[in-house]
Amino acid sequence: MQTGNLRNLKTREDRAQALLLGGAVDEVSPNIYFVHGSTLYTVTLLDSVEGASTCTCPDHEFRQVECKHIRACELYKESGTQQHSVREMVVA
Ligand SMILES: [Zn+2]
Repeated sequence: MQTGNLRNLKTREDRAQALLLGGAVDEVSPNIYFVHGSTLYTVTLLDSVEGASTCTCPDHEFRQVECKHIRACELYKESGTQQHSVREMVVA
């Protein structure tokens, strides 16, 4: 009954992981990332001191939630940059 939120979070976490592992995250500059989703989104990661992180996807712009793209970029940052050889995503 009250697991809705939790399930949602887990799903977003899973999707963020999938994006990261699929090489969908591209670091453009230290806190700017391109995320290849259904289209190309730009994510700006900010420390809470500087303000909230932003993403150009509708999920974030309309609902003001931390979307899977932002989460994926955070994971990317947390995991360091040693994963950037995984970039086999085909974007048509
Ligand atoms: Zn997003």
